[in-house]
Amino acid sequence: MLKESRLKARAEGGVKELLEYLGEDVSRPGVVNTPRRFVKAMEELTRGLREPPPEVVFFPLEYEAEVGPVVIENIGAVSVCEHHLLPIILRISVAYVPGDGIPGLSKVIKLVKWAAARPIMQERFTEWIADLLMEKLRAKAVYVKVCGVHMCSFIRGAKDEHHSMTTEAKRGEINVRLRCKRPLSCR
Ligand SMILES: [Zn+2]
Repeated sequence: MLKESRLKARAEGGVKELLEYLGEDVSRPGVVNTPRRFVKAMEELTRGLREPPPEVVFFPLEYEAEVGPVVIENIGAVSVCEHHLLPIILRISVAYVPGDGIPGLSKVIKLVKWAAARPIMQERFTEWIADLLMEKLRAKAVYVKVCGVHMCSFIRGAKDEHHSMTTEAKRGEINVRLRCKRPLSCR
């Protein structure tokens, strides 16, 4: 615990130094607590690095049938890009063929949000989340579609607010169409 608070103080000190480097007056009342708030905000955006994944609960089907694909579209999630630590606003659509038990809907959504809460590269994240869902949902097949708006190309670099990036990954046999709305869409 002591080690943790020392590391936190160092992280806050680092943010203060960054602000000084940028030319900000760090004694100004408006920014005097900004390093603490910034570290706290980053903790929230990367909680998946430290918190365990939400435990998925399974329900019996209680019916003689092979369950077809389950589709959950447009789960809202937030990541930060690992190259710039700027937010990525995500919509994630998932489809899966359940195995022995039927996963609870809320837990699937929580698992996806947890998975996103870390620094990511969207291409790798999409492959990883497909494997994660196969394992945690005990699924026979999984299909994931991720649509991201990356602040690092939205507000800096290319400075283009119109584009979005879509990636997808599949495991096993699953034939459904997945749609994924662009995050931050006005309509
Ligand atoms: Zn980036």
